[in-house]
Amino acid sequence: MSNRKTREISIGILKIGGSQPVLLQSMCATKTTDISATARTAERLAEAGAGLVRVAVDNKRDAEALREIASQTAANLSVDLHENYRLAELVAPYVKKIRYNPGRLHYVEPQISWKEKVRRIADVAAEFGCALRVGVNCGSIDPEQLSRQDTRLSRQDTQLARQETRPDNREKCSDGQDSLQRDCAVDSVIDSMPLLASALEHSAFLDSLGFMNYCVSLKSSDPATVICVNREFAKRRPDTPIHLGLTEAGLPPEAVLKSRAALEPLLAEGIGDTLRVSLTVPNDRKQEEIQAGRLILDNVARGEILTPERLPQLLKTRLNIISCPSCSRVENGVFVELAERIREASRFAADFPVTIAVMGCRVNGPGETDNADIGIWCGASQANLKRGKTLVGTFDYEEIIPRLLEELRAKIKNSCDS
Ligand code: SF4
Repeated sequence: MSNRKTREISIGILKIGGSQPVLLQSMCATKTTDISATARTAERLAEAGAGLVRVAVDNKRDAEALREIASQTAANLSVDLHENYRLAELVAPYVKKIRYNPGRLHYVEPQISWKEKVRRIADVAAEFGCALRVGVNCGSIDPEQLSRQDTRLSRQDTQLARQETRPDNREKCSDGQDSLQRDCAVDSVIDSMPLLASALEHSAFLDSLGFMNYCVSLKSSDPATVICVNREFAKRRPDTPIHLGLTEAGLPPEAVLKSRAALEPLLAEGIGDTLRVSLTVPNDRKQEEIQAGRLILDNVARGEILTPERLPQLLKTRLNIISCPSCSRVENGVFVELAERIREASRFAADFPVTIAVMGCRVNGPGETDNADIGIWCGASQANLKRGKTLVGTFDYEEIIPRLLEELRAKIKNSCDS
């Protein structure tokens, strides 16, 4: 591992960054209002080696439950607020860290600027001694960043593609996207731009407030993009601690391989101060996320680095199923089983380069499924089926797998015919 050093930040008595070892994290997938189940999960994860356990809070009832959870576990708790910035003051006394999502802040009280919202979160964090995480996610990108980048890309993508196919030209780039273009494939560059811009914008704003006790995560479901965007962020913000993760990694064992391919190359370069491996597993198996995190750290220490280029050979399938790890927000309890059944039912398509996204709720569901060939995101009693960005329909849970298989067969037939 290289000795790249970020600034040290405090998460209660824990520290990350600087010379600290990489901290492993996980997240409860129970309903936050199920206080005893969530407290038990947090304890189990802490015993398995999670330095920090995240809990989602979306409303005042969740916030009240969190207070009780904190009294029933000695685990270090972090809270996932996404856009619910007004809840920060209710949860801050009980947690060590607050995560907000820049891409979701726009959806609540749009008349208030994101800067006002972040200022309020940072003030509360400073008052209660909490750290912050700016959690940027490819499934919920700041819409303003997306439209800015779309405009920019329409001018640049032809040029980027040309440079990518002519490696001798890549070293000659001279504008601000230099290193992105040199180090990454075109798809990863394009996917990285809005993530990177959003993370840089929020880091600069927190700096301007004088709030420095924060880290940043830039997550995508594509290992090559995770590498590309984190390398670039680390280059531009060498001081800022980074939380690493491959979002929507999916079901193990494939998800562990994909997470290894995303995180091991970065850690070997000294990039990453804390990490979470996201696995689509039932709540009582969540400690597997910690085991996978430890495997990654051990591999890096031994110099056994898995890269994205070697993934296809190990996965033995070209069909890519991405799925979220689920959390308190999951809208139907059958979600994990649904993802497993979809993997089984679609094995016949292993030779085809098709991406299927299976998501637990509306937070990242609509955005993440946009990038997949076929997507499902769960509602309370029905699931939404998409073909790319287009909604095919909303179906009962008994119907959804046959309908998805129809889409998959049609997709394969079209690609064979064309
Ligand atoms: S998409 Fe999955 S992990 Fe993300 S918020 Fe929804 S249920 Fe939780």
